[in-house]
Amino acid sequence: MAEDNEQRYDPAAIEPKWQERWAADPTLYAAEPVSTGKPKYYVLEMLPYPSGQLHMGHVRNYSIGDALARHMWMRGYNVLHPMGWDAFGLPAENAALKNNTPPREWTLSNIAGMKRQFLRLGMGFDWATEVTTCLPDYYRWNQWFFLRMYEKGLAYRKKSKVNWCPECATVLANEQVIDGRCWRHEDTIVEQRDLVQWFFRITAYAQELLEGLDKLDGWPEKVRTMQRNWIGRSEGTEVDFFLEEPGKQGTDRQRIRVFTTRVDTIFGATSVQLAPQHVLVAEMTASDPSLKAQVDELIEQQKIARESGDIGAIEKHGVPTGHFAINPYNGQRVPIWVANYILADYGTGAIMSVPGHDERDFEFATKYDLPIVQVIRPAEAALGVVLPFTSEDGVLMNSGEYDGLSCVAAEKKLQQVAERDGFGEAKVTYRLKDWGVSRQRYWGTPIPMIHCERDGLVPVPDDQLPVLLPHQVEITQQGGSPLGRVPEFVNVTCPKCGGPARRETDTMDTFVDSSWYFYRYTDAKNDGAPYDPAKAQYWFPIDQYIGGVEHAILHLIYSRFWTKVMRDLGLITNDEPASRLFTQGMVIKDGAKMSKSKGNVVSPDDMVARYGADATRMYALFAAPPDRDLDWQEDGVAGVSRFLGRVWRLAHKYAPAARAARGQQAVQPTGTSLKLLRKLHQTTAKITLDFEGRWHFNTCVAAIMELVNEIQAADAQLASGEVPAPVVLELLRTLVLLLAPFAPYLAAELWSELGEEGAVLRAAWPTSDPELAKENEKEIPVQINGKLVTVVRVAADAVAKDIEAAALADEKVQSRTAAKTVAKIIVVPGRAVNLVVK
Ligand SMILES: [Zn+2]
Ligand SMILES: [Zn+2]
Repeated sequence: MAEDNEQRYDPAAIEPKWQERWAADPTLYAAEPVSTGKPKYYVLEMLPYPSGQLHMGHVRNYSIGDALARHMWMRGYNVLHPMGWDAFGLPAENAALKNNTPPREWTLSNIAGMKRQFLRLGMGFDWATEVTTCLPDYYRWNQWFFLRMYEKGLAYRKKSKVNWCPECATVLANEQVIDGRCWRHEDTIVEQRDLVQWFFRITAYAQELLEGLDKLDGWPEKVRTMQRNWIGRSEGTEVDFFLEEPGKQGTDRQRIRVFTTRVDTIFGATSVQLAPQHVLVAEMTASDPSLKAQVDELIEQQKIARESGDIGAIEKHGVPTGHFAINPYNGQRVPIWVANYILADYGTGAIMSVPGHDERDFEFATKYDLPIVQVIRPAEAALGVVLPFTSEDGVLMNSGEYDGLSCVAAEKKLQQVAERDGFGEAKVTYRLKDWGVSRQRYWGTPIPMIHCERDGLVPVPDDQLPVLLPHQVEITQQGGSPLGRVPEFVNVTCPKCGGPARRETDTMDTFVDSSWYFYRYTDAKNDGAPYDPAKAQYWFPIDQYIGGVEHAILHLIYSRFWTKVMRDLGLITNDEPASRLFTQGMVIKDGAKMSKSKGNVVSPDDMVARYGADATRMYALFAAPPDRDLDWQEDGVAGVSRFLGRVWRLAHKYAPAARAARGQQAVQPTGTSLKLLRKLHQTTAKITLDFEGRWHFNTCVAAIMELVNEIQAADAQLASGEVPAPVVLELLRTLVLLLAPFAPYLAAELWSELGEEGAVLRAAWPTSDPELAKENEKEIPVQINGKLVTVVRVAADAVAKDIEAAALADEKVQSRTAAKTVAKIIVVPGRAVNLVVK
């Protein structure tokens, strides 16, 4: 039978209607003033890069956050749920090169398009606090922060080896180099170049960034582990070996500083190993062409290993230099080698090699036939030892006056001696390096510094901010920063001496923009400060932050650093930006990440046009647990859409009865009514619990589907009036409330259909009556001789005697025990019945 048009669920009619009504009410999704006295809740999804189109990964990310925001509104919280645009960055420049559109126009038009998509999807964002990072009202504060950091010595300029992506034509931070390749260009090998660059001294906060992780128990363990490894703290000792040089003695000698975590093994050092780029190596090769050729080969091997992505897996090679070093503790002479696995940028670029007590050194010494000396024995002397013996639970031997000391005690003592005699010290090192923020690109925040020939580096005075990014700029990827070719930008008057000077032409890394944007949301229109500290104090920390795990050691470490800097500037009091973090899985299609090149991209617009925004969003939550990857199946979206159609029809069929029941006296439910209400209250309890932390939204949607199935199965009792109208009202009303975080359009439509006033968002989230939700029957499996035969239903509080009776009365049990003897019946109350039959 064809469906009557009146009876058809039509999201294309329902959704735009509500979208228009919501747009006309700017208070709907707006954060309220502090004075409301409500508890605050700041839920935030990471802001998108305005590439032009939302992709399904976005839809999923924002569907999770929006469901949570809606739930918290219904729980009576003052919710801040803002959105903005991470709008600086290279794609805008690349698009400009390709289409001859200025980056600003390209970006702003993309933002407009994506905002339309967000609105069509029905995302409940407070657009009054929108932040667009490429606009001067935002980036002037990047400049302001840069100047504050410069004053505190946290922003500085130095020449160093930096990562250079030839494709991006710019420098990259260490965090943007993934397995030796560019984070944006996974096929492009990052080169090393010597350049003068701006850095932020993130290492000044290394220890605090590390310790803070222990307190972030609302963050996924994998993110915390990634950050711990990235920070890479190691405790050890720096020690100077002396270079043996004819005629030189004592402190005249050159020193070779090594870093070791096991100074207690130093009597077992049988060589010193230098990175091929070590300064001393350059001196040695200057007069030794054959050594130089060998060292060059090591450098080449290192380069190839870096490019293959795993420098740690390099096949170890080394060459002896013919020079010797003197161990400062015992005067022992050891050969100096150059090795390809020693990295110039780690530690001091030099190590002592102790093959008796280190796996890697053992491997190297065995390969090159270097001596292997044991200097540590197990604390339990009886234990035999196979070298290398790497445990620190040991006692020193062959170590002169230190013999017999434990490793730990020896380490302390050896450090004291080094400090006393001036050849070393205890040292904590970190893998974390300072954050290189200079970019030789156009579309970013201009660095507010001026180069004057007389005064050197001169900061732009605060009252001259913002340093505006010029609009008409010729973009090429050659010849340094495009800003260098804009004379009106470059040529300035020195604020100090009034003479002619040049502006800095590098721009800031776009990760600067995202390091503090979420504070700006609390006070987005402030033109006298980045934000009002009182407002940030009220909203921070973010209660729930949601985004991709790919930011674990990029955005998520930079923004923690920035928070600590702002705290030390007196702007905020919180130590961390977000107390809880959730990282959702990816959306894939046919087993692979959606990408244009694979041709497996599903456009959100298409899905919305075909099935509606509600079905698209709800499917994104239903198809997989939020932390897992989701394999997009269009059939699944169609299925969710059909389900929403069933809800729509059910609600319309019984809305008149429900409306009429308003004001009627409640009834004591029995029979079908009781069964339906039990399911309703169970569903409510489950979904509430999930929002409180479990976040199994896929099973929440499934639970709503089960509830609807059960209500539909009782259609006859509903139609006949056997289920009283007040129960029908409760069923439908609560169903709509439970749906509201997942399918906001349909919820709004049905809410009004039920005759409710106001936004469903302002209605109270339903509570579950635990008495009503309690199951009054239980299913008990029955086994005969260890094999499952059947399941019987008994009262939830049934005692052993009743369960036994129910089992024996069961047809299947009777047919299998007929003509046999039941030797024994074992009842585990509430759990199982076992019959032993002979
Ligand atoms: Zn690149
Ligand atoms: Zn000057």
